[in-house]
Amino acid sequence: MNENLIKIEHPRFTTAMMYADTTHNMTGRPVYAEIGFGNEAFVHRDLWAKLETLVPELEAAGRKVKIFDAYRPPLAHTKLHEVIPQPGFFAANAAASPHCRGTAVDLCLTDENGQELCYPTLVDAYDPVYAAKVQSGDCAAFLAYLHKARHDYTGGSMEERRNRDELRCLMEKAGLKALTHEWWHYELPDGRDAHKYPLIDWP
Ligand SMILES: [Zn+2]
Repeated sequence: MNENLIKIEHPRFTTAMMYADTTHNMTGRPVYAEIGFGNEAFVHRDLWAKLETLVPELEAAGRKVKIFDAYRPPLAHTKLHEVIPQPGFFAANAAASPHCRGTAVDLCLTDENGQELCYPTLVDAYDPVYAAKVQSGDCAAFLAYLHKARHDYTGGSMEERRNRDELRCLMEKAGLKALTHEWWHYELPDGRDAHKYPLIDWP
């Protein structure tokens, strides 16, 4: 294993790696299982150091973090891009994705029992209807739907927006950076610095 990767194993963090099975992913392919990676979340030790600071607050609020993607093996990224090569999905090159450096994580909050809070979309804007269209090569409807994944989306219910904003508050407090167009994605502010965080090719 790469010496900079840490496996997330903590009672406040649960793992449901979306590319480990086909039930919650836009490609419909269990790409992680296909390369023998499975349902385990690894992140760069610098990212874990920040996530770990949230534990007292998560405990006090009765929240847990549910992780859907973390470190992504470059081989898995290449396969994902092969399944959906259209622009707007996976970066053409694994080197362009902070997930392949271990410096990004896709997540949401759950209650104490592991029940996901509601958000304007599911993580990764997953929706079985759009997934079926995307897998048949028709991406237009899904790309239009993606405006709901933005942090500045003002539709949906007040509770969904409040949960999205609560997550952002928490992650920014930990020193992580949000992406304007994906409410579930957080990364190290310098996580795309190729010298500090080179691509990790593992396993
Ligand atoms: Zn992400």
